[in-house]
Amino acid sequence: MSPILIESIQAIVVDLPTIRPHKLAMHTMQKQTLVVIRVRCSDGIEGIGESTTIGGLAYGNESPESIKQNIDSHLGPLLVGQDAANINAAMLRLDKAAKGNTFAKSGLESALLDAQGKRLELPVSELLGGRVRDSLEVAWTLASGNTAKDIEEAEHMLDIRRHRIFKLKIGANEVNADLKHVIAIKRALGERASVRVDVNQYWNESQAIRACQILGDNGIDLIEQPISRINRGGQIRLNQRSPAPIMADESIESVEDAFSLAADGAASIFALKIAKNGGPRAVLRTGQIAEAAGIALYGGTMLEGAIGTLASAHAFVTINKLTWATELFGPLLLTEEIVTEAPVYRDFQLEVPRTPGLGLTLDEERLAFFSRK
Ligand SMILES: [Mg+2]
Repeated sequence: MSPILIESIQAIVVDLPTIRPHKLAMHTMQKQTLVVIRVRCSDGIEGIGESTTIGGLAYGNESPESIKQNIDSHLGPLLVGQDAANINAAMLRLDKAAKGNTFAKSGLESALLDAQGKRLELPVSELLGGRVRDSLEVAWTLASGNTAKDIEEAEHMLDIRRHRIFKLKIGANEVNADLKHVIAIKRALGERASVRVDVNQYWNESQAIRACQILGDNGIDLIEQPISRINRGGQIRLNQRSPAPIMADESIESVEDAFSLAADGAASIFALKIAKNGGPRAVLRTGQIAEAAGIALYGGTMLEGAIGTLASAHAFVTINKLTWATELFGPLLLTEEIVTEAPVYRDFQLEVPRTPGLGLTLDEERLAFFSRK
């Protein structure tokens, strides 16, 4: 039997409106830009993937435009003509010829998995070894920047049983103002919710020592990336001192980063993101490093739309212990979809489809409408 070949690869930049401005320390999102990847194969099957980042170059060193350019000029041509069913060989070929570019690689790996799942009539989770759960609890980010508004939003989410874990994006304001904001929200929600913070590296160690103590003393469950990824010594010291557990997010830009953080004891929780490891298979390698090191896991997001969110979800449902749940709420931040059926959120959980591949179909009309011209 002749192998099924990858025939063409297309990367499409799509701008979608969001439900509200989403304030992060490094950027305020007014829209979200996705890069949708289509991999067409010689058996007529098409796989779809997504490579999405936040705020152009505000988060990392790949932007939507650079992702598209690098797929069009470098990564795509490396894959065309290759065996579509051998994802190991395809990804090794990319890794050999192209350094980094984990966001672009993640979208490509997702698309290859989607195609293979459709081919074998299996969900991607089963290609990844099999799921241990069918749904994932999903945290919500309160990011209006206004304390009363955030409390109101959290109460609403509890009422409609959509979220009971809330992550607050802090760091852009003066430290004491941020602490006041967080503590007021925790007091209002009490034991009904888990309240966590993400500082996105905005504190220095001198600020973080005191702030982590106060946050822990006030019932905050988790502190995400309080200081710069560059300050490894500081991360190790904070991980030893903070009464609330420290999660590494920006510190992990590769599977190798995960190993070195684990070896140094620089965090007690890892945020898993397919985009930063190079795909749903790659992120599971980071998950395995964490499990072996006794580090707890959390399913992170780059605020992807439906495709990237379900690519992440299919990987996360195969993980034995996802102690800190996930934040796969990207699709809920968008007011428009480019797939025919939106992912289902119910009873605090995201349901992970059991249909072949990722379980999504592109809505061609909407995709064409929102594609950047
Ligand atoms: Mg983060």
